[in-house]
This record gives sequence, structure tokens and C-alpha cells, in this order.
Amino acid sequence: MIDKSKKYCNSLTEYSRYKTREVFIGKVPLGGNNPIRIQSMTTTDTMDTVATVEQTIKMVDAGCEYVRITAPSINEAKNLENIKNELRKRECNVPLIADIHFTPNAAEIAAQIVEKVRVNPGNYADKKKINQQEYTSEEYNAELRRIREKFTPLVNICKEYGTAMRIGTNHGSLSDRIMNRYGDTPLGMVESALEFVRICEGLNYYNIILSMKASNTQVMVQAYRLLVNRMINEGMNYPLHLGVTEAGGGEDGRIKSALGIGTLLEDGLGDTIRVSLTEDPEYEAPVAISLVNRYTNRKGHKTITPVDENPIDPFTYSIRKSFELPDIGGSNHPIVTADLSSNKDISYDDLKDIGYTYDAVKDNWNVSDIAADFIFTGNNNLSFPIPSGLMQICNYQHWLSLCEDKNSYPLLNSTDYLTVNKLSEVLNFLKIHFDELTEELIEKLKNENNTVLIIETKSHHGMAEQRRLVFALMSKKIENSVIIKRDYKNISLDEMRLFSSTDLGALLIDGMGDGVWITVNQILTDKKENEKTTFVNESKPKFINRTLFGILQAARVRISKTDYIACPSCGRTLFALQETTEMIRKRTSHLKGLKIAIMGCIVNGPGEMADADYGYVGSGIDKISLYRGKEVVRKNIPSSKAVNLLIKLIKDDGNWVDPA
Ligand code: SF4
Repeated sequence: MIDKSKKYCNSLTEYSRYKTREVFIGKVPLGGNNPIRIQSMTTTDTMDTVATVEQTIKMVDAGCEYVRITAPSINEAKNLENIKNELRKRECNVPLIADIHFTPNAAEIAAQIVEKVRVNPGNYADKKKINQQEYTSEEYNAELRRIREKFTPLVNICKEYGTAMRIGTNHGSLSDRIMNRYGDTPLGMVESALEFVRICEGLNYYNIILSMKASNTQVMVQAYRLLVNRMINEGMNYPLHLGVTEAGGGEDGRIKSALGIGTLLEDGLGDTIRVSLTEDPEYEAPVAISLVNRYTNRKGHKTITPVDENPIDPFTYSIRKSFELPDIGGSNHPIVTADLSSNKDISYDDLKDIGYTYDAVKDNWNVSDIAADFIFTGNNNLSFPIPSGLMQICNYQHWLSLCEDKNSYPLLNSTDYLTVNKLSEVLNFLKIHFDELTEELIEKLKNENNTVLIIETKSHHGMAEQRRLVFALMSKKIENSVIIKRDYKNISLDEMRLFSSTDLGALLIDGMGDGVWITVNQILTDKKENEKTTFVNESKPKFINRTLFGILQAARVRISKTDYIACPSCGRTLFALQETTEMIRKRTSHLKGLKIAIMGCIVNGPGEMADADYGYVGSGIDKISLYRGKEVVRKNIPSSKAVNLLIKLIKDDGNWVDPA
């Protein structure tokens, strides 16, 4: 039995959905035994009834089971009635959710019209009191009493009208009160929601859904786990709405969302999900559906040996200790392996796809920021010397034939590993499944620091089996480095990107994994309806290599490019956010490690842009304010000049480098 202090799901080895109470959103219930529901949010102006209705219908056609609409003030809240009437007239019965920040009076009107309201406990009836740094217990309790007074009317209206409520904490917008007591932490996020839950329960209102969103995937996953742990220990069972905020768009947005949301889904958490992308909202549902569909038949997978103890702290990030070898393990960042074994004639172009460009004139190699660290060549020979810094792994027998090559290392299976006489003195790679971790192998590994384990799985619940294997290594005190390898077949590259982000990311986010490796066979090319393909005309190794670096970045374990924190936009956005994000991305994508936030509105943007280095925030119609960290440095500049001024700000700060 997992200790209560670490428990956050039914099982770490057997797929099983964490059972929550059933809550009705109109006629579409979630939680309990209901399927995981798909939802999204409109980006139109809520006062534009026709545009909002048409976008809602598109989203429903794409698979949304609930649609959220922003209600920043009383006028928009009132207009929800027109939107709802028009939708019903067009025979669209999707339950509507009003998104509220700061404005209790808008919430109280909306709660009488729509099926659910979402409040943010960080800013419901709360203003930022920048000057207040400390709260005494008395002041803290007085604040709680004030919140209770402001919040009670909404709860009473929800009770009267049968309206559900999401208490949705955002990492970036915690109240001063919470920040003061708990800091900017998962615990602060959980407490922020629970304060509001306790008020609801005091009023006998239980139609509650909870969320703990963050742009930082580690914080997001830890906060949801901690919330469930608190619910288990306090006898609560509210359904969970999962999402990663400000995930951005395209490839990065998909990887980040699949990593954060998928990690929780793997452990059976989540009753509804929203994939939030800086794209038109009808593109979000197909991604969400792909993520959720993986679990339809997950139950009943082959048994994985249960664990009695969770050897890691699931609420805090820490790295599994591993031996430090010259290029892997210990304090090295996780490495990327490119699998070129199916390619008999590996060429300069193949290496270009994985980040190494040969300059024939200068006779040297240019290495990109996302250059693979190892290549696996199987039984193939290379007809040219590979760049220094790149290392080759090949099959054991082939390696024997190359034994003079100092840059190549053997890959063995467990039978060979236990029987052969000759191994590399520098580095050996051993591929194993959980079942192969015998006592004999454990004994040998204890004396072979320079063996790196390539962990594989054939389990239908693969992440859990690989995690179980790492747990077994930890309990046996085996500190050999581990590369997480997944083999996919019969899926599209779009699906592979989502699934690998979950499968590898769920281990990386818990500090397990010194490297990553993916293979894909039999790629399906059928595009699903509404699916947006975000890659064109590129080779499979190039796509996989970029995906792997994307996963490491999204898990925050290896930073190789600029980090964008972009909100999905909503009715509050007053500039062309998607185009602007693309423009900023084009001009700054070479600024490795810099975090740039592009946020639709001044109301929530600055609070929610988390730990960005620079912020580009909409502050009026075609007006932008620029931020350095949390400090506003240019106010209300025309959007036509704002991108150039952002670049100038980065240059003035000395954070600019010219693109290569
Ligand atoms: S930050 Fe973006 S998504 Fe959030 S309220 Fe503002 S415009 Fe809407």
C-alpha cells in the first residue's frame, strides 16, 4: 500500500480511473463513470453574438462537449443569454460555461444563464495589493471573511439555478494572501482552491469541478497530484479539469499539452480536458480526443508487478541519481539518440536532419542547438567520419568488427550481456524490458557503472511498466543511466508526437531518464477531420529529433530553444494574437533559453505569464504593453511598432544574439 502522504491515484501500475463524484453540466454529466469530456473556449468577442455562436458550432462539430465563453463584465454576461438562445434555435444544445475573472457581478448574472461558471480563486473579488508583503493570521482570516462575503451570493445562485462551478486555480495568478503564506508553489495553488471549496461546502454546495493549471508542466502535474492527495485525505472527490495554460501553438503547444495532461491521464486522473493552443479553437478538440482515446481500452492490460512504496516524492521535482559518465548520466542533461538503423547508406543529408551540417569548403561541421548526441546505426557502416561530439551506437556483433573505432559503442541484449567476454571499456548499452531484470543481471550491473540501460516496453500500459522498472532499479540501488525508448507503429506522426510526449514526458517530469529514443514504423498518413498537421515535407528522423528536443524542453529538463508562453486568446484579446505570436517566433526563435510571453489582455496576461523574461501584452485595441519580467517598461504602444520595440528591449538588455 502506498503511504497516504504520497498517494495521488488508485495505482501506479494498474490503469484505473480515479473515481470522482458526478457533476451535471446541464444535461452532460462529468466525473463518476462518465467518459473524459472534451472542452474548449471561444476566441470571439462575447458581444458579437453571431460570431460566438458560429465559432461554438464549429467547436462542437470538432468534438467539444462543453464550450466556455469569457464574460469580463456585466454586458458580456448578459449577452450570454442571446448566445444561448441563438444556439438552441440552431439546435445546438452544448452546455455553456462562463469564464470569470475579477467580477462577481458578472458571475452572478452568468450563473443564472449558463450551465457552469468558472471562477479563478486568485482573482475573484481580489485585487493585487502590491504593497502588502506580510499578512498576520488576523489579516489573513479577515481576507477570508471578506472573500466569503463576496463569494456567497454566487454560490447561492448556483444552488438555486442548478449551475455547476469550476474553481480554477492558475499558477500565475495566485492572490497576494496565498503568495504570502505558501509562495508561488503547488501547495499554494491547492490551498487557493480549497479555501473556496470550504466556503461552498459550508453552504452545502457540491457541484464543483477543480483545476490547477500552470504553464510550467512540472508545477501543473505536481499541483494536480497534491490536490488529489489532499482530497483523498480530507474525504473529497471533486472532478478534475486538466489543462496546461499558455502552452503556445503548433508543435510546442501540442507537446507541452500532451506532456502535462497525458502524465495525469496515465495515472487515471482527469474527468475533462482542455488542450489550449494559440490557434483557432476548433483545432484543440482533435488533439484532446487523441489524448483521451488512448485510455478507452487501457483497462485490463497485462499485470505489472505492483509497488508498495513510491520511491520518489510525486509533489516535488528531483532527479534520479545516476553515475556520471563523460556524456551521459549524473549532471549531464538528458541525451537524444537518433535511430538511423533502417538507413543502409547514411549520408551527409541524414546527419543534417539531426542537426549536423557539413561545410565542404571549410571541411567542418556546423552543429545546431538541437543536434542529436548519439546515433544508432544498427549493422550499417558509415562511409565518412562522423563529427566529433556525435557518438555512434551499433549492434554488438557489428561493434566487434569496428573495435578500433573509439567513437562507437555496443548495444547488447540481456542474454549477450551476461555471457560475452568482451565489452567496451568506456560505454556499453544494454536494452532491457522489466521482465529481464533478474537477480543475475542486477548483480552484474552493480559492478558495471559504464553500462547504460535502454529501457523498452511492450506493455499496453507502457509508461507505468517503464516507471516500475526504474522504481525497481532505485530499490536495488542500481545507479546506471537510463535511456527511455519507445517504439511506435501503425500511428500517424501527429499521434506519435502526442503519445511520445506523454510516454517519455511522464517519466522525465519525475526526474527519471538520462536520455530518450524513439522509433516509428508503419506510419499512417490518414489525416483525421479537423486535424491540423503542423509539419510538411521533412524526413522522419528530422521530425523525431525535433520532437525529442521538444519533449525535453516541455519537461524542463533540457532547454535548447526559445520558450514561448502564449495564451490561447479569448474574447478579451484586442490584437491579432496568432499572427503576432508567429511574427515574434520568426524573429526570436534563435534566442535559446529566453522565455517570451505573448498574452492577449492586460487583465490576466501579466499575472499569468508566469516566469517569462519578456512579456508582450495586449492593453487596448491594437495597443501593447511590454514587460521585462513583471515590470512594465512600455505602456500602450501601437501594435504595429510593438514587435520591433520588443526586439530593441531585448537588445538593450544585452540578451540578443544575431541568428547564425
Ligand atoms: S490572457 Fe489571453 S486567454 Fe487569458 S483572459 Fe487574457 S486574452 Fe483571454
